[in-house]
Amino acid sequence: MTVALQARDLCRDFRGFQATNHVHLDIHEGEIHAVIGPNGAGKTTLFNLLSGFLKPSSGEVHLFGERIDPLPPDAIVRRGLSRSFQISSVFPTLTVRENLLVALQAGTRLPGRFLTPLGAMDAFSARADDLLAQVGLDWARDRPAADLSHGEKRQLEIGLSLAQNPRVLLLDEPTSGMGSEGIARVIALVREVARGRTVVLVEHNMSVVAQLAHRITVLQYGQVLATGTYEEVRRDPRVIEAYLGQ
Ligand code: ADP
Repeated sequence: MTVALQARDLCRDFRGFQATNHVHLDIHEGEIHAVIGPNGAGKTTLFNLLSGFLKPSSGEVHLFGERIDPLPPDAIVRRGLSRSFQISSVFPTLTVRENLLVALQAGTRLPGRFLTPLGAMDAFSARADDLLAQVGLDWARDRPAADLSHGEKRQLEIGLSLAQNPRVLLLDEPTSGMGSEGIARVIALVREVARGRTVVLVEHNMSVVAQLAHRITVLQYGQVLATGTYEEVRRDPRVIEAYLGQ
């Protein structure tokens, strides 16, 4: 079993408040791993620490055995970890396809190099078309992203994260604000993108967690309360209490 992403004794405090408190996390290569927990449990903070958007107060993050927490987020992306955001990161006035082209170019740009060779543009173009098909938005390719529904924007965001061709993909509440049709689409999409890569998602909808996650980590008060399969954690008395206590 290869550990794709690992948090080692990870801590983060905000002026004395421990948002992440000695978290140890092993994400296995190829699994879909859900991080759940009541509001304020520290899920977003943990994602920010794993992806380099926040620096830990102490502890380490390792990606395939290599320490990444001292690196800036763009260097972490280049090492194979990319994330989607809860808040929309699409450019509304660009078309759906142009959004993907921007993400593709951003992912491959070398430091200090601002022009992309024409040959590379052809490759980006073909890859943008693949991604459009993969996330089910080929029909909207030339529409401004602003025209997409909320659910379709979330699909595009997954496409933007995939543009970096990550080995590990972090998805922050990919079904938030969606109706049942959108949720079903995202479930199918996450299953597809998880083929050949590792996915970690923060998710509130327990039905989505039950359908997607191989394993689950439950956070409470910044600490790991339980880790296991859906069946294991839902029977755990500490987990039941944490949720009933909300
Ligand atoms: P979750 O995503 O599980 O709802 P968060 O990670 O957003 O939880 O927050 C965990 C705790 O850390 C909350 O009590 C929150 O108020 C606090 N927190 C998060 N970010 C900051 C910050 N930048 N400054 C101060 N407190 C923060």
